[in-house]
Amino acid sequence: MSENCTHNCSTCSKGCGANQEGSLIKSLSPGASVKKVIAVVSGKGGVGKSATCALLAAMSKKKGYTTAVLDADVTGPSLPKMFGVNQKARGTEAGLLPVRSPSGIQTMSMNLLLEEDTQPVLWRGSLIAGAAVQFWTDVLWEDVDYMFVDMPPGTGDVPLSIFQSLPLAGIVVVTTPQDLVKMIVEKALNMADKMNVPVLGLVENMSYYVCPCCGEKTEIFGQSKAGLFANEYGMPVARMPIDPTLAALADAGKIEEYSNTQALEALFEQIEKV
Ligand code: ADP
Repeated sequence: MSENCTHNCSTCSKGCGANQEGSLIKSLSPGASVKKVIAVVSGKGGVGKSATCALLAAMSKKKGYTTAVLDADVTGPSLPKMFGVNQKARGTEAGLLPVRSPSGIQTMSMNLLLEEDTQPVLWRGSLIAGAAVQFWTDVLWEDVDYMFVDMPPGTGDVPLSIFQSLPLAGIVVVTTPQDLVKMIVEKALNMADKMNVPVLGLVENMSYYVCPCCGEKTEIFGQSKAGLFANEYGMPVARMPIDPTLAALADAGKIEEYSNTQALEALFEQIEKV
């Protein structure tokens, strides 16, 4: 695939990637353009995958990149709430228009299409994966430098078919200390390896808590395994603290205002290198 690939095969004559026979990678709508796609994955729900996805997107936007988030967690969409996006997505003849977050991040999520946010999506796996892939193929993504995809948790059928359909440049694995066990990390690494997608780094979320009164650092969910994993897999492991400010901003739809993201800087540098 060329360096300058925008994943829009309708305007490209090179016979590579999505154009190749047998490739399951889907093309974008005519006129849409996305340069790099990064998937954010986790072994299970509730570890902070969506929060990490939102923070990486907010960092990307602050660094001046045109940024998008695709919420592929169709049955548990939480990105619109974190970004405070509550208007519904509009469609045109040419496709669906992404809804902009307060800082201008282009977003698409099942919750932007449902009439009621509280409506459950009671679909079988193939439909769920189909909807997530349509967010790639049918949305008019506008000149995006970095797209962050909030994947459904786990390594089952649904994440697998999304993996196969999107031209991922890399994945970021989010875990918590008790969840950061070899098996989960290695499953994610193996899946990425089979798909030929590099793992750009691990995030050990809720890694510790710093007492606001005395500054004492406590590893509430057990001893960090970040050092061990960094050595074993030779990739950056970002340790994110449990931070009530992050939880409060996410709840208030203001996650873009969270500034304590130094722990994610080294990981972001990896993202910029792919
Ligand atoms: P997942 O996408 O893995 O299911 P979420 O990103 O939705 O998890 O996070 C679950 C909850 O935990 C959310 O309310 C989120 O705001 C909160 N949360 C995530 N990371 C942190 C953190 N480091 N400190 C405090 N709260 C967090």
